[in-house]
Amino acid sequence: MEVTSANVWVGKNRFERRTLPLPEPPEQGLLLEVTANGICGTDVHLVGQDPTAAMILGHEIVGRIVAFGPGHPHTDAEDQPLREGDTVALFPWVPCLTCWSCRRFGPGATTCSEPFVYGVPPEAIGLTPCATDESLSLTGGFGRHLAVRPGTYLWRVPQSLSPAVASLLDPLAVAVRCVDLARTAPGAWDEVLTPDATAVVLGAGAIGLLTSLALRQVGVGTVVVSGSRPGRLEVARELGIDRVMDIGELGVDERRRAVHDMTGGRGADLVIDATNSPAALSEALAMVRRLGTVIEVGNIVPTGSSITVDPARDICQRSVRLLGVSFNPPRSYTEGMALLARNGSIPFERLITRSFSFDDIGSALEALGGDAVKVTLTV
Ligand SMILES: [Zn+2]
Ligand SMILES: [Zn+2]
Repeated sequence: MEVTSANVWVGKNRFERRTLPLPEPPEQGLLLEVTANGICGTDVHLVGQDPTAAMILGHEIVGRIVAFGPGHPHTDAEDQPLREGDTVALFPWVPCLTCWSCRRFGPGATTCSEPFVYGVPPEAIGLTPCATDESLSLTGGFGRHLAVRPGTYLWRVPQSLSPAVASLLDPLAVAVRCVDLARTAPGAWDEVLTPDATAVVLGAGAIGLLTSLALRQVGVGTVVVSGSRPGRLEVARELGIDRVMDIGELGVDERRRAVHDMTGGRGADLVIDATNSPAALSEALAMVRRLGTVIEVGNIVPTGSSITVDPARDICQRSVRLLGVSFNPPRSYTEGMALLARNGSIPFERLITRSFSFDDIGSALEALGGDAVKVTLTV
């Protein structure tokens, strides 16, 4: 019997490397050798807890096709042909296709109420936990192989991209979705993606920096990023962000004043909160101009703390457009892959600040708690 190995999450901050049987590729699915897996803030958050059942985490997955299961169409989400040995990135949600959300919003919606999700414990996202046996069947990117289920959307990775850079596709799709949500009809009164616009991104983690790069691509005039960890701010400067604000040096009022000073006292056209701090939403609302847009993307995991919003002063009186993001459809992955394929003109590799081997999962998680922007497991 052929075998593989995986880092199985067995307890709070505890992994075990286990040898597992290498299955046949599932019918209409395929078998991947995982060549890169990005570690997400969500993983760090989860690992700090006890799992309901031991499982393999990791949802920012890139791998090499080892074998197709019978009936796989041999094409990717863009109808490009796929062959054994090709490298692909995948959409971690497999929708059920039959629930109300799937019928209403389409099969690509991450709103499905009964999806299968690679590398994320179902109960963490309000779904029913799997039985232990099933949760150990190669379903996450912290393992050396992945059994890809039927109906999983895949994108072929061009040979010019390293697997590590390709594993940015999942967080980049979030960034792309934020920019897409900020779009309006050209000339609309609430248009904010213009060459004279100032956009502020709160947070200099992977989502914040990828969002800044995506804003650049659509021609926003001035991009400002704020953050606290020196290594991340250094990367922001190297990426050519117009202004980098260190929140250790500038207090919240000073940051607001700095943005007002940059914009003739009006405030930012667009503020995107990519931090996981509830207070940052208050800062965003105070920083945005009249008829401006605020997008909340960072506070995805409840912290139990709340903020005070004055609906009149903060939203109504200034006609602020406030949008939340947790839904990034396959289309955002296609757009993201197009941006990654332009690698060279956009310095994505600067975001991969640390790579670790699959055997060194502990160090990888530690690095993400520090100064690194994006930590990736690679072969
Ligand atoms: Zn993620
Ligand atoms: Zn569904």
